[in-house]
Amino acid sequence: MASLISGKELSEKYSLELSEQISHLKTKPSLAMIIVGQNPASLLYVENKRKMCEKVGITSHVIRLDEKTTRYELLQTIKGLNESPSVHGILLQLPLPKGLHAHEFLVAIDPKKDVDGLHPYNLGLLMSGQPGLVPCTPQGCLQMIQSVMPDITGVKAVVLGRSILVGKTMAMLLCHHNASVTILHSRSQDIKEICQKADIVVSAIGKPLFLDRSYFNTNAIVIDVGITSVDGTITGDVDFENVKDHVKAISPVPGGVGPMTVINLMMNTLRAYWILNELN
Ligand code: NAP
Repeated sequence: MASLISGKELSEKYSLELSEQISHLKTKPSLAMIIVGQNPASLLYVENKRKMCEKVGITSHVIRLDEKTTRYELLQTIKGLNESPSVHGILLQLPLPKGLHAHEFLVAIDPKKDVDGLHPYNLGLLMSGQPGLVPCTPQGCLQMIQSVMPDITGVKAVVLGRSILVGKTMAMLLCHHNASVTILHSRSQDIKEICQKADIVVSAIGKPLFLDRSYFNTNAIVIDVGITSVDGTITGDVDFENVKDHVKAISPVPGGVGPMTVINLMMNTLRAYWILNELN
């Protein structure tokens, strides 16, 4: 039986450490979350993040905007939060309704308050190996990997998916930690053969149950980022039941990467708080 890499347990441990650190601060970090429209999954994600803020002692503000919000109104909302000294972190919940293009709004967020780490300035820092605000999901995946293999120097890592949100940033983090990284995507050839040789496989493709045990060797560490709703059930990219007693370690869905993403948002909010306090 593989070791279970429980994001739920690891995030609980981090949340206790974070609450302890925040309890010693004179003022509280604060996070503003903007949600546009009524996407049910987004409403749930924002509510989970709000609850975690409450748990660790971060002040949260949820700004709910109408589905018909214009580009100008959204930009003005972001501008107001950028200028507010009482807001340390800004999160724009994606996806946005049709007609609003995420990139334009992500670049409008002050990079110092960009707790999602998706502003080109923060992505540039990540690329150049400088400290900055790192995207929450890949950072969480790295912590999960390091919970079972603290030193990943020289190991062969495969990342399935090449989005900015997960795939590319994950690959960059693994590379900075001295893994030898291969990125695979929808045009890649020989995906199974490449995965079979990997010590670490991180899958972020959003294809439910795409990977069964034939993709992995018995020493593999498998991190499943995928989340797809199949008949109302949250399903990962990996066929967990088929793979769990074949590999060395595996993360479940749900209870894996999801909670680690949320706790890293909290950590980034605290980082943004420190960055802004140092500047003032
Ligand atoms: P995305 O932007 O749609 O990217 C998916 C990537 O997968 C693309 O690079 C695509 O390749 C690649 N891909 C698709 N089908 C493939 C296949 N058959 N073989 C190999 N590669 C394939 O998605 P994303 O935003 O990165 O998210 C990926 C998944 O992670 C989704 O299920 C999402 O819900 C989940 N997610 C979970 C969390 C969490 O906190 N747990 C956070 C973020 C995302 P091309 O580039 O060639 O199209």
